Amino acid sequence: MRFDLHTHSTASDGKLSPTELFSRVSELSLDLFALTDHDTLNGYLDLQAQGLLQQAPYFIPGVEFSALAEKLNVHIVALDFDPTNPALQSLLQQQAERRERRAKQIAERLLKLGLPDLYPAALARADSSESVGRPHFAAAMVDLGICKSIQQAFDKWLGNGKRGDVKLLWPSLAEVIDAVHAAGGVCVLAHPLRYQLTLSKVRSLIALFAAVGGDAIEVVGQQAKPEQLNHLVKVALQFGLAASGGSDFHDPKWAWAALGKVDPLPVNMLPVWALFQHTKLSN
Ligand code: AMP
Ligand code: MN
Ligand code: MN
Ligand code: MN
Repeated sequence: MRFDLHTHSTASDGKLSPTELFSRVSELSLDLFALTDHDTLNGYLDLQAQGLLQQAPYFIPGVEFSALAEKLNVHIVALDFDPTNPALQSLLQQQAERRERRAKQIAERLLKLGLPDLYPAALARADSSESVGRPHFAAAMVDLGICKSIQQAFDKWLGNGKRGDVKLLWPSLAEVIDAVHAAGGVCVLAHPLRYQLTLSKVRSLIALFAAVGGDAIEVVGQQAKPEQLNHLVKVALQFGLAASGGSDFHDPKWAWAALGKVDPLPVNMLPVWALFQHTKLSN
């Protein structure tokens, strides 16, 4: 089983257009693939409108939703939902509005801190005002010579807890999970090791995610050390969660997140695709 269930295109903060991504994916002979842009389905809808997805039944609907677990900004990868479901569409519309609102707030904060108005430059880097995010602000800072690199922009201004990080407007875990479930989809807690939490806090986060109806966690694709992976598997099994995995592909230049390069899931865990209602696989 070859799969990649976490990737990005220019519809959010990825470097390849959905069409470029589609053609690269077509060459990889994967069994299951999801484009999971941040808070938008536009890349998937673009490919569908081009009639490309009929030739690729392994290409399933996906979105990486921004959400709040108490005050922590976490990501939920939603997979295999009905894209036409009204609850899901309403959530996507709200996320688009939240992104636009947040981008204006980020720009205002940075302006107060003495930087130029970065809103137009960030917008120019994004697909639309509805998909603009911190990576587009980081790119604008590099363009304007305010920072030397994207990393420096996150470290100094935009990273979690920094002054340009506006996060309190995202919906709760339960709100996202309920809408995805209403659309017959499955919810995966993305990259549990990337929230800068201790292992005991990671466990609490997974417990909370399971308590509000979460279905699976990402266990592969995040360069975990063996003891970290063992911890994730143990906790996931304890809370009855399935396993998912993806490269989190953004940019062909990022060797550590190459498209389609995902290790097999742990053999003692239920694969997330066993929970799919719309896409049935034989193995
Ligand atoms: P946003 O969706 O606007 O909250 O931005 C989140 C995205 O920014 C993530 O999906 C990453 O692609 C990127 N990102 C987050 N933190 C960092 C960081 N420290 N360095 C570089 N990129 C980051
Ligand atoms: Mn991203
Ligand atoms: Mn993420
Ligand atoms: Mn991602």
